[in-house]
Amino acid sequence: MSNPIATDEPDGFRVGLARGELMVMSCSPCEAVLDYSARYCTVCGSPEIRWRKASGKAELRCVVEMSVSYTLELPPPFLIASVKLEEGPHLLAPYIGFWESAYGGQPVAAQFENGGFHFRSVAA
Ligand SMILES: [Zn+2]
Repeated sequence: MSNPIATDEPDGFRVGLARGELMVMSCSPCEAVLDYSARYCTVCGSPEIRWRKASGKAELRCVVEMSVSYTLELPPPFLIASVKLEEGPHLLAPYIGFWESAYGGQPVAAQFENGGFHFRSVAA
């Protein structure tokens, strides 16, 4: 039985990360920025969706400390941030900083390293 979600198409998000770019999904006809799970445009209904470069700027929503890891790249404990990108979509990603000084609404920016990325606070 084949997986209906898996495809041979390159994952635009990971292709962008390899270039040091954070990508968002965007509607080709109306250019609306869409959530990462979108399969069609929620503004105009078009199925023509493409990847485009995001600014990397975001607003911190919250930070959670993880005490268990399932990947060697993130030895526990590590922090995960929920952010709202400047373009609108929400994203979960590793956070570099201190849990104690993180707060909702804090300006953060994506930083790239070894094909991955994390968010870190920036001056307002
Ligand atoms: Zn659209």
